[in-house]
Amino acid sequence: MKKLIGPFSQILTLSGMPVNGALADTQLEIISDGGVIVYDGTITEAGNYSSLAMANPGISLEEISGQHILLPGFIDCHTHICFAGSRARDYSMRIQGRSYLDIAKAGGGIWDSVVQTRAADETLLLSLLQQRASRHLLQGVTTIEVKSGYGLSVANELKQLRAIKNAAANADGPDLVATCLAAHLLPKDFDGNARAYLDHILTDLLPVIKAEKLAERVDIFIEESAFDCADATYYLNAAKALGFDLTVHADQFSTGGLAVAVACGALSADHLEASTTAEIALLEGSETVAVVLPGASLGLGMQYAPARKLLDAGACVAIASDWNPGSAPMGNLLLQAAVMSAAEKLSTAEVFAGLTYRAAKALKLGDRGRISSGQIADLQAYPGNDYREILYQQGQLQPVSVWKNGKKIK
Ligand SMILES: [Zn+2]
Repeated sequence: MKKLIGPFSQILTLSGMPVNGALADTQLEIISDGGVIVYDGTITEAGNYSSLAMANPGISLEEISGQHILLPGFIDCHTHICFAGSRARDYSMRIQGRSYLDIAKAGGGIWDSVVQTRAADETLLLSLLQQRASRHLLQGVTTIEVKSGYGLSVANELKQLRAIKNAAANADGPDLVATCLAAHLLPKDFDGNARAYLDHILTDLLPVIKAEKLAERVDIFIEESAFDCADATYYLNAAKALGFDLTVHADQFSTGGLAVAVACGALSADHLEASTTAEIALLEGSETVAVVLPGASLGLGMQYAPARKLLDAGACVAIASDWNPGSAPMGNLLLQAAVMSAAEKLSTAEVFAGLTYRAAKALKLGDRGRISSGQIADLQAYPGNDYREILYQQGQLQPVSVWKNGKKIK
């Protein structure tokens, strides 16, 4: 049934703004006293509430009382929330001054989560994933990318990806976009032979993922502690030939990954904390989205990705949480984006674009991230009448209402 939701003191549509480059707040389209017409889970119109009500006599009304600001639901285009166990021990070591690579070399790090996730059965993994996905949804995140990568064997990667597929089947949950990150780390069982492991994944895992429709995306961690550029290029091109979209963990501690991502035509290159002007220039003219992950910088106590420089160089910059048990355990996307914007000097428009339609591009989703005709009715409303309050309160102001496919779930 067609319905009109509103009135809202402000609707930030995020429409009509460019996909690439810097944005000023004056570019934000704001509808005052706005309303949204939703039919069958899709937005058919956004405009002045009274005008919409008058033009659609008899339309069902979902009335909002009080002052609220409406935004598109956020899209978290990079998470690792399908895991078991905790890495509090790693975190305590890190805040005492031990480095990420130190901890990895000492047998902690990602491998610790692999051991804990391998030990969990699919039912437990599913329940942990659903809890995290629900928490995100209540904070306004209506689409979440979720990576595997704590299995690192055919059976355990499939266990993770099947848990993600089952969680995605929940009609009242957020949309989940699965990514195979079997190339997160070279598993200890492979004795340092990266190419043998990657060939094993290409031959024995990716065809099963295709057949069971578990994921359409493949990711790899390019770093000293993980895979080098040559092996990553080989793997990404082979995965692409199998029909997978690509994304890359790039330039987190050392450079090289972003160049591989661009050369392979990846949808996104994520992290980029170590990227310099030379790497940033590689994005010019490319369709690859730069995904910055302030939660990882906060968790590791390191510099942010150069979001300001990326935007000024014309990149499409999305902001994601990297929610994972090791480097980014917090998982509060809005808080992380708000805190980074103060350090990196980002406009509100750049932050909201990075959390909505620019993040949608990183996931190759054209049907969400804006409040306009034809877009999925994934929406969230914050109390107040001034959108600037949202970043000002640095994540403390939470959405009071959230809609998924037009259905109010909070
Ligand atoms: Zn990550």
